[in-house]
Amino acid sequence: MGLLSLGTPLPWEESRNYSEHIRTEGVEQLLYIFKSAWDRQGDPLLWGDEVEYMMVELDAQEQNAMLDVVHDRILDELNEQDLELCKVNDLKFHPEYGRFMLEATPQNAYPGYVDDYVEYNMKQRRLVAEYKLQQYAQQEGVVNRLVPLTLTAFPRMGCPGFLNIENPWDHKNTASRSLFLPDEVINRHARFPNLTSSIRTRRGEKVCINIPILKDKNTPTVDDSIKSRDWFVPEDKESRLASKPGHIYLDAMGFGMGCSCLQMTYQAPNIEKARFLYDTLVNLAPIFLAASAATPGFKGWLADQDVRWNVISGAVDDRTPQERGVAPLIPEYNVDGYGGILKENRKKVQRIPKSRYSVVDLYLGGVGNKYFNRNYNDTDVPVNEKVLKRLLENENFPLDYDLAKHFAHLYIRDPISTFEELLDQDNKTSTNHFENIQSTNWQSLRFKPPTQAATPDNRNVPGWRVEFRPLDIQLMDFENAAYSNMMYLIVECILTYTDKFNPYIPMSQVWENMNRAHHRNAVLEEKFYWRNTFNPSAHYEVGQETTEMNINDIFHSDTNGIFSTFINPILKHRNFIQKSWTELKQQPQQRRLYYYLKMISDRASGKIPTAAKFLKDFILKHPDYRHDSKISKTINFDLVEMCDRITHLDNSRNEVTEFLGSELTEFLLNNKLSYED
Ligand code: ADP
Ligand code: MG
Ligand code: MG
Ligand code: MG
Repeated sequence: MGLLSLGTPLPWEESRNYSEHIRTEGVEQLLYIFKSAWDRQGDPLLWGDEVEYMMVELDAQEQNAMLDVVHDRILDELNEQDLELCKVNDLKFHPEYGRFMLEATPQNAYPGYVDDYVEYNMKQRRLVAEYKLQQYAQQEGVVNRLVPLTLTAFPRMGCPGFLNIENPWDHKNTASRSLFLPDEVINRHARFPNLTSSIRTRRGEKVCINIPILKDKNTPTVDDSIKSRDWFVPEDKESRLASKPGHIYLDAMGFGMGCSCLQMTYQAPNIEKARFLYDTLVNLAPIFLAASAATPGFKGWLADQDVRWNVISGAVDDRTPQERGVAPLIPEYNVDGYGGILKENRKKVQRIPKSRYSVVDLYLGGVGNKYFNRNYNDTDVPVNEKVLKRLLENENFPLDYDLAKHFAHLYIRDPISTFEELLDQDNKTSTNHFENIQSTNWQSLRFKPPTQAATPDNRNVPGWRVEFRPLDIQLMDFENAAYSNMMYLIVECILTYTDKFNPYIPMSQVWENMNRAHHRNAVLEEKFYWRNTFNPSAHYEVGQETTEMNINDIFHSDTNGIFSTFINPILKHRNFIQKSWTELKQQPQQRRLYYYLKMISDRASGKIPTAAKFLKDFILKHPDYRHDSKISKTINFDLVEMCDRITHLDNSRNEVTEFLGSELTEFLLNNKLSYED
């Protein structure tokens, strides 16, 4: 996310009156973008990653690990008095939903393949955040440690004592109305509590997420953390109805948007290549979600799934009961059948199958794309007909049908964060209304258009980009750099050999893959739809091009595996190898890259565990574990301390070896990036 706009966010009841205005103007802004930028050619493959951290306070005395919601001034400081320090180190810190969260990116996009610089840059970001937090601890004379960790989900978020403030419950949490999360988890900037309450209000009830509990012999039949309370009517009463037996019940945006992910954005040379890149990454997203699984549990429970994704989906699911197609909890809501929207702004309610945070809906296809066939978009994807029509027929830049449909789908959503001061915009120069809708459609990929300033000859601003968004964040910078670099190589391959492969499978199979990626141990136990061959000369009827394969084969098959299809060709093209990526090991210059790839390869084959598996096993084997699926305060403390050791390559208890295997661990210990000394 960019810098936060100052101003007054409107509550949902008011903001809904401007929904149509924002959509209408947003579409005009998009058309001006196309008018300026459609013929941009030859942009270089710049790219960058985003890493999200949780600030954690470790209290050894009390054996408690807490989310730190006290030191969020760190963000302002990193963007004000420490800005120079960040700039000279090529870093940039961004706000995130959680008050305990930081996001950091490189200050400048990477200019292509940059060797170990990605990891170096990630290390620098972490060092700066660590340095700041240590300073706070020193200034305050506290003995507890403050550390920024890259945990996907904080295991005891929402449990008693999970925040480092005295009395978080001495007042009501009006924004979320959660039974578990005080509003202190939310970023102080007005945008975030406003988003929280707008989603809840639009939905007509609290968000509701049920995640299966990893069942053990003493596991209670229901989530026994649900308590009675009468602060909010009807929200406090909803929980018992909304929670399902055998499931962890989560009731607030913070449970999802408080998770951390790893994202990467890649720039394509032109719009058509960006579309092809997007389409090719569509089915890599669920596969890499499963292969990056790093989530042990939620709200003090072990989860019977290994990833965060559907928790975030549920956490921002603002669909009305009618849109979701369920009997409304509050019957009088939406009595007019128009989503409760004021008459003058009426939009007929349509059924919407998915949350605005979810797997992508549509392939983009492309002008001159020989492999795309509209039948691949075989799922139920509603569109905003008015927007579709305008995008197809206008005086600025009529879009082709498939691209128009993509945006017309994003525009079925209402804006959920509207600032009074930003309602009037110059559509020729502002992208504010367009981005309002675009940036609150959180899909597994994001197609990022440039701004109206991106005329073909203006290279000072970015061009057409694609963002890869499914990955769980990993504990170590090494791991995060590994996933980022591997994806970079895949992207470079796709952009280099655009016409050399056909990536399409039915979208319904991609959706099914996304479901399966959520299953525990999916990396070893699930099968996924995968193309029989990417060779474009093989002809299939739509729906006939896939086999169900396990992740090991999807990565390693000699004919249609990720390594043989995307990695080997690009490494050959770069003259790094003759035939196989494993040759990298013999080359001193490329050994770190070899180990990046080997780590992911070993996870895909089960030689080493995913972080999710490793963390779950730690919990299950902990002496304090009662076979009740619960992550106690002590277990959580020990777990977080171990994560901190692994992050810092502290192998004093042999944990890094157990996590990454001995060869990889030895390599890392003997080949520290120089600044680690
Ligand atoms: P968002 O949260 O909307 O994805 P961020 O600003 O947090 O946006 O992250 C954008 C990412 O894109 C960063 O990793 C940044 O390095 C990268 N980036 C910046 N400019 C370019 C570019 N021209 N091409 C590709 N990636 C870029
Ligand atoms: Mg960001
Ligand atoms: Mg982020
Ligand atoms: Mg992003």
